[in-house]
Amino acid sequence: MYDYLIVGAGLFGSVFAHEAKKRGKKCLVIDKRNHIGGNLYTEQIEGINVHKYGAHIFHTNDKEIWDYVNSFSEFNRYTNSPIANYQGEIYNLPFNMNTFHQLWGSVTPDAAKQKINEQKNKAGITSPKNLEEQAISLVGTDIYEKLIKGYTEKQWGRPATELPAFIIKRIPVRFTYDNNYFNDRYQGIPIGGYTAMIEKMLEGIDVRLNVDFFEHREELEALAGKLVFTGMIDQYYNYQFGVLNYRSLQFETRVIDETDNFQGNAVVNYTARETPFTRIIEHKHFEFGTQERTVITEEYPLEWEPNLEPYYPINDDKNNQMYRKYKELSDQETNVIFGGRLATYKYYDMHQVIGAALATIRNEF
Ligand code: FAD
Repeated sequence: MYDYLIVGAGLFGSVFAHEAKKRGKKCLVIDKRNHIGGNLYTEQIEGINVHKYGAHIFHTNDKEIWDYVNSFSEFNRYTNSPIANYQGEIYNLPFNMNTFHQLWGSVTPDAAKQKINEQKNKAGITSPKNLEEQAISLVGTDIYEKLIKGYTEKQWGRPATELPAFIIKRIPVRFTYDNNYFNDRYQGIPIGGYTAMIEKMLEGIDVRLNVDFFEHREELEALAGKLVFTGMIDQYYNYQFGVLNYRSLQFETRVIDETDNFQGNAVVNYTARETPFTRIIEHKHFEFGTQERTVITEEYPLEWEPNLEPYYPINDDKNNQMYRKYKELSDQETNVIFGGRLATYKYYDMHQVIGAALATIRNEF
């Protein structure tokens, strides 16, 4: 008999299992996939750790969480500095003095501010009615047209004029020559990949892969005193209030034989509407790899359907209201803990998932 049956060997399930074991509890972790790690999973191809479910860069401001992940793996000094490719023109991201110099030749912060203000004023938008108007009112027309419009439309599968303004609340603009995407104090990539880090967390814990909770529910529930569920909350309740919506992604991964360095950067965003993918990831650059070949992944956003992977929750009013009904049911459970991105219908970065799992543990013990 186990103390906890943990559904999902992703980050939430793995942190919970590790901490429960430390407190003398016996855990069984199951996952319907054939591997541990959930969306953090990295797989070695050509000696390169390939991020199978999209680029994952660890970043946090919280020293406790940074120390926590470093206790499972050493982290390298990778700094996320994505590049935008707009029809062959290259721009630095996030929007900073390098970008403004590339766009307009601006040399000083005042010159760049003046350019942005001129464009904002010329557009004359006072109460933005959609995402396009919102973006132009924040950063002007050039940045919007070249670096925001196409990328956002591909991400959401709809014209920017049909997307609500609230999707973009603010657009970070930096008037320094600083290409570091994150503002956090700590960031990096685990040396040896995320899978090795999760393996370390799950050391000494029973794990069963290729097991779907819903296919063996009764027999699995009978194995443990308590359930920790990190799958989809609507599925747990048999979709009784409806199906929660997501955006999905398709990843096309290729080994490139012709060169050992395809694009010179780990992440390149393709911001023109005509390019069908949103970004290309070149995985070796996350770990400063010097392998003979290189591996790239093109990322294509997709409408989600139940047979696809759910990636980004669509937190509009309709879905949020539906989620609240499921949440009310889950709040009444005494023997089930719901955690992680799918069970709470929330986009979480990794450090937030760890924070949430550690808070759940504090609550439980
Ligand atoms: P998951 O990793 O999804 O784990 C849940 C697990 O439960 C899965 O393995 C699933 O197979 C399993 N499961 C579900 N249902 C069942 C069932 N019925 N039976 C058995 N098993 C089941 N965060 C960052 O901090 N930095 C980044 O750069 C970053 N980039 C990202 C890029 C993309 C494209 C995406 C989608 C996310 C990114 N994230 C990033 C977020 C990060 O992926 C999440 O914070 C993290 O993976 C969430 O962990 P989790 O345990 O909640 O969920």
